[in-house]
Amino acid sequence: MLNKAHMMKLSWQILTQPSKLWVKILKAKYNCGMNIIPNFRHTSNSSPLWRAIVNAWDVVKGNITWVIRDGVDSQFWRHPWIPNVGALEDHIAASIPREELNFPVNHYASDGLWKWDKIRSIVPNDICDKIAVIKPPSQGAPDFPCWKLSIDGYFSLKTAYEFMENQHQEDLYINPIFEKVWHWKGPNRIKAFLWKLSQGRLLTNEERRHRNMTNSDLCPRCQDYPESIMHCLRDCEDAREFWTNIINPEVWSKFFSIGLNNWLDWNLSNDNIGNDGNNWSIFFGVAVNELWKDRNSLVFSNISGIDRNLLFKINTQVSSIINLHSFQKNLVTRQPGEVVAVSWKPPLDGWHKVNVDGSFNTISGSTACGGLLRNQHGIFVKGFYSKIGSSNANWAEMWALRIGIRIAQNLLLPKVVFEMDSKVIVNMVTSGHTNNAYLSPLLGEIVSLLQHPNWETSIAHVYREANQCADFLTNKELVIQN
Ligand SMILES: [Zn+2]
Repeated sequence: MLNKAHMMKLSWQILTQPSKLWVKILKAKYNCGMNIIPNFRHTSNSSPLWRAIVNAWDVVKGNITWVIRDGVDSQFWRHPWIPNVGALEDHIAASIPREELNFPVNHYASDGLWKWDKIRSIVPNDICDKIAVIKPPSQGAPDFPCWKLSIDGYFSLKTAYEFMENQHQEDLYINPIFEKVWHWKGPNRIKAFLWKLSQGRLLTNEERRHRNMTNSDLCPRCQDYPESIMHCLRDCEDAREFWTNIINPEVWSKFFSIGLNNWLDWNLSNDNIGNDGNNWSIFFGVAVNELWKDRNSLVFSNISGIDRNLLFKINTQVSSIINLHSFQKNLVTRQPGEVVAVSWKPPLDGWHKVNVDGSFNTISGSTACGGLLRNQHGIFVKGFYSKIGSSNANWAEMWALRIGIRIAQNLLLPKVVFEMDSKVIVNMVTSGHTNNAYLSPLLGEIVSLLQHPNWETSIAHVYREANQCADFLTNKELVIQN
């Protein structure tokens, strides 16, 4: 730790004493550029000393405050120049126009006065008050960096060492988000994603540029703004539209203004943020994960769509998480070995549920399918059963689904969840893919029916016990046939 404090001192000297010979040599050797803040980065020819300096720079960078004199070298949005505020861009809810991001401080002042008409429309009031007490830039001496941890602004080993010691202790506190993520009800792979997200560790283009993995930090969707986590998952136009359609208008302003940590905390602990008013925390976790996956598929495979398909995928995952939960709750052992199976659950308010099933009689080779539709109170609305000639079990299951979808669609029901006990078919429908060429036309038709723009649908795999009415209808058909 003491060694790291020494490295911090060296990187501070590189920043503040550019005319020293050893600084000039190092900056030339490692291509640090001509900017007032050197470009500290690892290169293929880095010596161990340089590596240590670059690592220490990350800590130093967070503890600089710029003292404004002519306002030319310091950047208004990106450099920390307001005491105890850090970089302004971290405090702004709205996106800053990209061309303005690198503007110097003196762009926002003229004739020795701050240009409040430009500043107040974007910067929060409490920060404006802090800007107001800083002398606006005027011609003369250049800006210079101060070490914010010491009273006099000069770097000292003592303050560097104390800072690292405190930081070490902070690492030991458990982030309060951790508990929210830990208790989140969905699958572990999404929990792991949420945890990474809460640590700000997604490789957005902004982060990739920061790590010198790319030259451009632009958002791959809109190409207008740097791609930060919040821009990618919430503020980019497509993402914003996605959320606007599903969250309660009363909370829009909060939803779209708070920072990453508060945003996660709030969404993972409230169930009444969505329009539906149910299971929001599950929906939210699945949705941010899907938005990120969609972003990656845009970048790596050039395939994207924040559209009906995405909402359908999310609803489907949410249904299966909820189903699995009620299954686990119902799985109470009464006596050793005796297990009470899961029972059918009515859908959420405003939804209808269709259970379908197909069956295949191995002796006669005949297939049949059946299904029934019930409302949110569990009341029977409509049922069907039908023989579909010789084929196989997957074919029968898929036909059952196809007929169930038609029936729900003819009744003009706005929100429908489909359940079946064939995991194979559910996987085919959610992925839109099958290796069975015979099934693929029927699958294509089902997928396009489910994604029809006028209704909201989802599909879930349920255990046979929860699907027994549909099962009964199907087998009844087989009996009649035989
Ligand atoms: Zn964008």
